[in-house]
Amino acid sequence: MTATQPRSDTLGDATLGELAQALRGRLIRPDDPDYDEFRSIWNGAHDRKPALIIRCRGVADVLKAVEFARSEGLPLAVRGGGHSIPGFSTVDNGLVLDLSLMNAVHVDPNRRTVTAQGGCLWSDVDAEAQAFGLAVTGGLVSTTGIAGFTLGGGIGWLVRRCGLTCDNLVGADVVTADGRYLHVSEEEHPDLLWALRGGGGNFGVVTSFEFRMHEVGPTVYAGLVFYRGEEADSVLRGFRTAAAGAPDELSMAVNLTTAPPAPFLPEEVHGKPIIAVLGVWSGRPEDGDAATRPFRELAPVVVDLFSPMPYVAMQTLLDPLYPRGMWNYFRSAFFHDVDDASTSALLSAYAQVPNGASELHIHHLGGAMGRIPADATAFGTRDCDFILNVVARTPDAAGYDTAVEWARSTTAALGPNAAAYVNFTGEASADLVRASYPRGTYERLVAVKDRYDPTNMFRLNQNIQPSTGKP
Ligand SMILES: Cc1cc2nc3c(=O)[nH]c(=O)nc-3n(C[C@H](O)[C@H](O)[C@H](O)COP(=O)(O)OP(=O)(O)OC[C@H]3O[C@@H](n4cnc5c(N)ncnc54)[C@H](O)[C@@H]3O)c2cc1C
Repeated sequence: MTATQPRSDTLGDATLGELAQALRGRLIRPDDPDYDEFRSIWNGAHDRKPALIIRCRGVADVLKAVEFARSEGLPLAVRGGGHSIPGFSTVDNGLVLDLSLMNAVHVDPNRRTVTAQGGCLWSDVDAEAQAFGLAVTGGLVSTTGIAGFTLGGGIGWLVRRCGLTCDNLVGADVVTADGRYLHVSEEEHPDLLWALRGGGGNFGVVTSFEFRMHEVGPTVYAGLVFYRGEEADSVLRGFRTAAAGAPDELSMAVNLTTAPPAPFLPEEVHGKPIIAVLGVWSGRPEDGDAATRPFRELAPVVVDLFSPMPYVAMQTLLDPLYPRGMWNYFRSAFFHDVDDASTSALLSAYAQVPNGASELHIHHLGGAMGRIPADATAFGTRDCDFILNVVARTPDAAGYDTAVEWARSTTAALGPNAAAYVNFTGEASADLVRASYPRGTYERLVAVKDRYDPTNMFRLNQNIQPSTGKP
């Protein structure tokens, strides 16, 4: 992606000097030596050149940044953990409001809640909460930001036991487009709390999240078991049967991938198709072997790495597999059953995988997530027991377009009208956003957008357009 000349030069040194003085955090401009470091995001496909980056140190800085973007008419990109696949947390010629310095976490063990600032990563929340044996559904990769993750829904290893992350969001502090600072809860601005639970970053800058927590670990029974790629048919069919009998404490996924040259895999499988069945049993660790067993006998085993381990170890286990800077395009589709039709679509996509870095993830949902009424939150799809996440990636631009096409055709093969998950949609598309929500939910989101952001200041997200039609 190309970037045009950033326009901070047209803003005037005096204006920018005043802004820099007023901040507790830092204003970064294109001629600063670390500009390149702070303009980059996780997805290397988006090489954008913002006019300004404000690294906020607190709510006061956030208020100033929002006011500055509004008064100067600058496009505003809000950045939590910077893991947006479509590159929403950066922008050419606009202002990046970077929350990464705002990463304080406060645990209240008695109330079993955690308050975490908007720039926290899952590693921050897990580390603090696990000191008290608490957790909430978090990311499979610990470097993902809690903000974008929670606002779009949040699917992790505790989803069947504790629900989506957004289901556990009980309060938030939000800076709105008109510069108000609102505390949001079931009692105050409940319409906004409803929208923050799945409606994305459309409604303001969330400076702080309050979560209901659950007793988890510190030891869980977790890990991965590997099967050869040619066993994909048996593994998928067996996964379906095992998933049907799984208790809520068990959350499992299948990863149809290519074996990395990792020391825990025999050399003869390196570079070949391999299937990882992975997940977490968060009940009593001594029951974990039996609970996970049905998923560990789906075909002849290459290697079985399930064992008791610290919850935080499982939360960071996959981090090295998803490095920063590669070109990434993700796509998703919810589906009801791993039946003959979906198995055949998945096998065909796996056979056509464009390179060794691209892969298919099938995550078992249901449980607590599925029991929450559809209209209780803005999250779009709860009645499907499975989600397919397609990870298409290349080291750089070479082969990227082919990988993107493969991802698109893979989700289309699961059903042209399958609902998508906004956090796993690799592009900005009004049609895909609409298709991610039931009609009634979408209309309710538009009404909340009209109330809190009628001019669509917060538009770099899976955008809910206000009824004013502001793009
Ligand atoms: C390696 C990797 C692993 C992932 N694993 C999972 C997974 O296990 N489960 C899952 O459900 N998803 C997963 N995702 C998807 C992830 O949930 C989304 O990419 C999410 O948007 C990332 O949030 P972030 O804060 O890191 O991103 P950012 O790029 O900072 O932001 C993403 C979006 O949220 C908005 N936003 C960010 N912070 C705020 C804020 N404080 N207030 C308002 N809006 C804000 C941004 O403007 C942008 O639109 C994964 C993504 C990656 C790259």
